[in-house]
Amino acid sequence: MFTYIDPTVRERLVEQGSLIRIDSDGQVTDPNAAPEPGARAISILGPIPLPMERHGHHYEGEWYASVRHTELSKAQELADDLREQDGQQSFAILAESMAVNSVLVLGDPENWENPLVRVHSSCLTGDVFGSERCECGPQFISALERISADPAGGVIIYMSGHEGRGIGLWAKAATYLLQDAGEDTYQANQSLGLPEDSRDFSDAASLLKYFMRGQPFRLLTNNPKKVDDLNAMGINNITRVKHVCGVSDSNKRYLAAKRDWGHKLESGDLE
Ligand SMILES: [Zn+2]
Repeated sequence: MFTYIDPTVRERLVEQGSLIRIDSDGQVTDPNAAPEPGARAISILGPIPLPMERHGHHYEGEWYASVRHTELSKAQELADDLREQDGQQSFAILAESMAVNSVLVLGDPENWENPLVRVHSSCLTGDVFGSERCECGPQFISALERISADPAGGVIIYMSGHEGRGIGLWAKAATYLLQDAGEDTYQANQSLGLPEDSRDFSDAASLLKYFMRGQPFRLLTNNPKKVDDLNAMGINNITRVKHVCGVSDSNKRYLAAKRDWGHKLESGDLE
């Protein structure tokens, strides 16, 4: 992460065009100018070629890392202080407060026509451990497969701060214990005094405006609220594409709760 390295490297990345900044409308802005007070600006680092191997299949993608400028500035200031104090071991603390989202570009954007998009909320237990308490892991793999195989290609936007629908990994662990005592996934959030769904899709919307350049796209999701949220942020050319996968005995109750909450799942989908 470049906040940890010499600022002259940052300059070089900007010169190469590997570090850019966009505004909330997805328009490219000057990465060296201070953003207007209160304005949301996102720094994007990439493309970084990323060969991937999942379940015996090989994928080629280009990875972009993105972070809000405000979070980055705070980290940068702290990094400068630490550098002066020679506090090398403290640098890891900086990363904790920064939500670094990712964009994975699959296929050639020049050939995109109504590309396929997945906005995926981070889920350590599902995506990495392969937990069957949710269907995040299979949904991620299936998105990678479907987008790579689609002639139009597309992107996966991986939202790093979305654990437990936005409540964080610690609280999510607590909701699992509450769920095992009989509550459903939404009730458990409420019992903890936390919102049922506090995911913020505004950065995803800005990234989609930048990467899609206004063209229509298909969104892999069963959640109409995700489409509504993106519509509300000015993206109106979305076709929702059903994305049911990974149904197992361990997550049927969880998926039924999602369906009752508004996800477009038919009874046959949970068989
Ligand atoms: Zn999950």
